[in-house]
Amino acid sequence: MNHALNISAANPNAPRLNEGETALPTSLAGMTRAQLREAAIQIGVDEKKAKMRAEQLWRWIYHYGVQSFDDMTNISKDLRAKMAAEFTLARPRLTERQVSVDGTRKYLIELSPGVECETVFIPDVAKSGALCVSSQVGCTLNCTFCHTGTQALVRNLTAAEIAAQVMIARDDLQEWPTSNENRKITNIVFMGMGEPLYNLDNVSDSIDIISDGEGMGIGRRRTTVSTSGVVPKIKELGERTGTMLAISLHATNDDLRDELVPLNKKYPLAELMDAIRQYPGLNNSKRVTFEYVMLKGVNDSLAEARELVKLLKGVPAKINLIPFNPWPDSPYECSDWDQIEAFADVVNRAGYASPIRTPRGRDILAACGQLRSESQKVRASELRKQRLAGEDQG
Ligand code: SAH
Ligand code: SF4
Repeated sequence: MNHALNISAANPNAPRLNEGETALPTSLAGMTRAQLREAAIQIGVDEKKAKMRAEQLWRWIYHYGVQSFDDMTNISKDLRAKMAAEFTLARPRLTERQVSVDGTRKYLIELSPGVECETVFIPDVAKSGALCVSSQVGCTLNCTFCHTGTQALVRNLTAAEIAAQVMIARDDLQEWPTSNENRKITNIVFMGMGEPLYNLDNVSDSIDIISDGEGMGIGRRRTTVSTSGVVPKIKELGERTGTMLAISLHATNDDLRDELVPLNKKYPLAELMDAIRQYPGLNNSKRVTFEYVMLKGVNDSLAEARELVKLLKGVPAKINLIPFNPWPDSPYECSDWDQIEAFADVVNRAGYASPIRTPRGRDILAACGQLRSESQKVRASELRKQRLAGEDQG
């Protein structure tokens, strides 16, 4: 009997596989508490004891990060063997790992054959580091400056696949068991591939897993979800997750925002700003981050800096000026550094501190969507070579 199919049928987070994708053996790593309970019942644990077993599993998986059932010393050998026969503790396969001279680490992760996402660890100067996770493979939105936007949506990630990105980074950074001191990954940002608010159920479940104090314990206030402005889901995000909100603004008027972030045609600025004002719990210690990518001659004038300040009036806000990260054939250039600083000055004088995000990991192309496309390029050229070799032989 194929238990892998069993559990995914009961699991609303099971990936909706594309045609030709095959299901991997079911791993417990990435499951919610309810799913772990079900898994315990599936291997014959009495319903009354299943909750306790799920708690034990939770601790081993998310506090200790174990990858072998043998390490679960408070669970009997017999039960461990039963679990090992039906399940694994495997993470999705890490297909590529790059480390930048500045310490940024970029991971390319294969979720199922041919379906890949990327995750980036960005150590900060202070004693903190952010892990940038993906919520979708590709994206349905087509922001003109974003490379992910040029890739069609492949699919939503499951909660398990999102949580597994954190687990893989922790494996690599040797951050098990969870400790409260000297952590490398202190923050989570949903700023990788995809639009998190188009996959809110799974994003919300993954945050339940990642933030749980009995496990990885990366708190909700240290987790930021970035959206291009899916207005009807903004309040719900706050209510369900209690996380920090980031908005990819990039323009201060509808004409330009329509062009840069086409979703603006559906949800224009006035509606977006209204929704932001209703984000639960906003105050001076829980501010909204506004991301503003600096595009030379497009949105970087000082008049626009003043407009930005005006637009944000009354909203507890932080501003992140992001130097545009170019990709092959991208239709924009990054603003000159002097211009970014002059723009930042206007914003600073209005009371917003340190707004320029320094480019990180440029040597390993640690920008939205780039590693995946680079690796696809390499694979395409390998295929071409193989085909040519095949023709030679034929
Ligand atoms: N889809 C969500 C989250 C992922 S994008 C969103 O759009 O908010 C994360 C951030 O990277 C967004 O602010 C996005 O605008 C920005 N970004 C995308 N491509 C970029 C590029 N080439 N250079 C700099 N920032 C970019
Ligand atoms: Fe999608 Fe965000 Fe890129 Fe826009 S910026 S295309 S919403 S990933």
